[in-house]
Amino acid sequence: MKIVIKNATLISMSEKRKKIEENIDIEIIDSKITKIANNIEAIDADKVLDAKGKVVMPGLINTHAHVPMSIFRETVDGYSLQDWLTKKIWPMEDKLTNEDIYYASYLSFLEMIKTGTTTINDMYFMTEDIIKAAIECGIRLQTTRTLMDAGNEKLGEERLEELRKLVEKYKNYNDCISLNVGIHGLYTSSREYVQKCIKFAKENELPIHMHFCENTKEVEDIENAYNEKPIDVLNKEFKDTKITLAHAVKLNEEEIAKLSQNKNVSVSHCPVSNLKLGCGIANISKMIKEGINVSIGTDGQGSGSNLDLFESMKYTALLQKGISEEPTQMPAYEVLKLATINGAKALGLEEKVGNIEEGKQADLIILNLDTVVTKPVNDIVSDILYNVKGNNIETTIVNGKILMENNKLKIEENDIYDECKKIIRRIQ
Ligand SMILES: [Zn+2]
Repeated sequence: MKIVIKNATLISMSEKRKKIEENIDIEIIDSKITKIANNIEAIDADKVLDAKGKVVMPGLINTHAHVPMSIFRETVDGYSLQDWLTKKIWPMEDKLTNEDIYYASYLSFLEMIKTGTTTINDMYFMTEDIIKAAIECGIRLQTTRTLMDAGNEKLGEERLEELRKLVEKYKNYNDCISLNVGIHGLYTSSREYVQKCIKFAKENELPIHMHFCENTKEVEDIENAYNEKPIDVLNKEFKDTKITLAHAVKLNEEEIAKLSQNKNVSVSHCPVSNLKLGCGIANISKMIKEGINVSIGTDGQGSGSNLDLFESMKYTALLQKGISEEPTQMPAYEVLKLATINGAKALGLEEKVGNIEEGKQADLIILNLDTVVTKPVNDIVSDILYNVKGNNIETTIVNGKILMENNKLKIEENDIYDECKKIIRRIQ
């Protein structure tokens, strides 16, 4: 299969190229970007996409989510994090079937395709049903079996065994599915269990994904259970371990400096979820200054509302400018990096995706700036950050496959919405 995209305004996010290039053609053969140049011959192409007047950029990368939580959208108003989990979410999750997980995941993947996200980092359970939906939708997924022992050693072991089987089955399954070791958090696991999970990650050369310092209560719980500050537990136990920390809100400047000592740490900044749950605002400006790889996540829709990373990017920029009272913080192009190449680095996928370069997998989106909120387009990159919404995306390509073309999805969607409505009505 050969696709040629013609006449694009290209924002490749590649250090090897200019920030913005006009009238660029991109050739995709099978799953890869094979050529980027002016005037690529398209006579023998199976598909030609005209991108005149449109922007082509890398598909966005969401580094923290709980994919099947789409069905819990807007159930959180008026609850604290702990109350929402114990009184609402966990009783409903107990009733979820494998089929429910499949439909709820499918809804999230539809949302991603329509809003320009091509890769997602997931943490949930019944993982095979999430993978099944991802394969059918064609999305790039990094997933896990959520690990915690929460006072029950046997359950912790069973979960780790489940992940072991998933790794055996899916490690080299296809280009779009990868696994990591998803430790729910320090506060929901014993130190011994966390050490076992780290050992498993190292033996299998997998990155770790973990919630960390989301709110004050979590920090207190960790200090009580470990008799140490969370940052000290992290630096001791996770030394030399590739890890993505979701949230990292409750870290002061000194702790951020300590965090930066581990060069394998990435942070997934989830501004919308953190605001909605009243957790606070992570000081990512300081993290970036300290050389920490910061990326962006939405969290599950239960707390993050939606998977539109354009919305999360805008919050990211505005919050940092606001809390620092420094408008020169977070230049627009730097914020786009967080949701593209930095996301790829966090997941260990930077050789494959995260920017548009010859030889990389073809994960890219085409977006329309011919809208009333972007005209007269004085600064394309700033327009993308502040005025583009997920629904400006016209075409989404993952691994060389067109999943949506000119706003037309290539997969079925109607049944999914009805099924998801039925599920939430049944388990509520
Ligand atoms: Zn989360």
